[in-house]
Amino acid sequence: MLKIKKNDRVEIIKGKDKGKTGKVLRIEPARNRLYVEGINIVKKHTRQQDQNMPGGIIKKEGPIIISNVKLVCPNCGKAARVGFEVKESGVKARICRKCKQQI
Ligand SMILES: [Zn+2]
Repeated sequence: MLKIKKNDRVEIIKGKDKGKTGKVLRIEPARNRLYVEGINIVKKHTRQQDQNMPGGIIKKEGPIIISNVKLVCPNCGKAARVGFEVKESGVKARICRKCKQQI
């Protein structure tokens, strides 16, 4: 089970975007990467595909190593470590280690 999911809010803890926060757009667990809205923007050159889509330079989020981000807890608002707890029902839940709330 991944500690970070799509649409989570994360804080960047390493690199040029250190200290910034953003929403997780996409996760690639196999490559240990994720994409965060507005973070690690890279320019990409595109070729013209048709008249409605001219070629040029587009800005796009680049991949970030998962270990370079920390989850921002929606309950306490802090970048927190994540733990797991197995509920009585057998469901595994994510827990914020700071406020002990399920996230
Ligand atoms: Zn918390």
